[in-house]
Amino acid sequence: MAITMGANDYDIAVVGAGVAGLNAAITAARHGARTIVIDMLGAGGQVINVDRIDNFPGPAEGMSGFELGPMLQMQADEAGVEFALDTIDTISKTQGGFRIAGADLDLTASAVIVAAGSAKRTLGIPGEAEFEGRGVSHCASCDGPLMRGKEACIIGGGDSALDEALALAPHASRVTIIHRGPRLKASAALQARAREASNIEIRLETVVEAIRGENGVTALAVRDLSTGQTSEIPCHGVFIYVGLEPNTAFLGETVALAADGRIVVDLDMQTSVPGIFAAGDVRARSVAHLAASAGDGVTAAISAIRYLAAEDIDEPLKHHALAR
Ligand code: NAP
Repeated sequence: MAITMGANDYDIAVVGAGVAGLNAAITAARHGARTIVIDMLGAGGQVINVDRIDNFPGPAEGMSGFELGPMLQMQADEAGVEFALDTIDTISKTQGGFRIAGADLDLTASAVIVAAGSAKRTLGIPGEAEFEGRGVSHCASCDGPLMRGKEACIIGGGDSALDEALALAPHASRVTIIHRGPRLKASAALQARAREASNIEIRLETVVEAIRGENGVTALAVRDLSTGQTSEIPCHGVFIYVGLEPNTAFLGETVALAADGRIVVDLDMQTSVPGIFAAGDVRARSVAHLAASAGDGVTAAISAIRYLAAEDIDEPLKHHALAR
């Protein structure tokens, strides 16, 4: 596919250096596109804090996120991808492409792939903001060693909550998973591993009403939804994993968003704006698994290459109704 070189700084700008963004960039660069990846934190995205990934195609024994992130970055470097650190504020249409502007950067590209990922949702309960960094954490693999011999609590019942409970279990004296529903949402494999761990306890139908302490966290005030009874759970570290919010605020009305704030795409990862593509868990209906995000990145890159080569990719959002 011959890419029409424009007057822009880059052929393809990728916003976000997680698994989706890095795979998009690697693919784009290997197809000859002048490619830049911009991320506010550096390469790896959320995966960088994951202790063990065992559902990504590859080694049967799994690997950690701090191994996978740098491996992808090395592949991207070798493919000739450029990297920049910045928080992107706006993407706007120009005559020959797009202007991507951040706190420091201001560049143009003929096509854009948004792979900005998600941020962890907060609960908004008393004590959550007050004890942030003093017992309230969103990274068990980072803070696990600080929990040696102490009681840890995890809030949430999804894959993230169980992944992180398993990362904490070797350090903490006890890990209590507190979930509001009658059953966990996490995969059967993670649930089985959690139930095998002797120091992981699971409290279902329980909501956390407040995080208590003085200099640091000492307890959680909880309510049992089946009996209505309130009580306290002793706890020195609270790890909150109650879902993800897509990082799409910076897009404003640039592209169509679904009701949950994620970017509407068609099967080519094309958004409502020709030339802007999206990949990974920032896009609507993503299953938010690493392998799927990697695949999204490749699809978005190939679609962007075809767009640059002026090939006839599907009309944008022809599948709009299906993509919602
Ligand atoms: P999630 O799947 O959306 O689960 C969020 C959990 O938090 C749910 O159990 C939910 O309860 C609970 N929750 C939400 N709001 C709450 C509130 N206000 N108070 C109390 N609990 C609340 O989020 P996630 O676990 O971060 O996973 C996000 C995506 O990434 C998923 O698609 C997941 O499969 C994927 N992921 C995959 C892996 C892996 O492959 N190993 C690892 C991590 C994440 P309800 O169930 O009652 O709604």
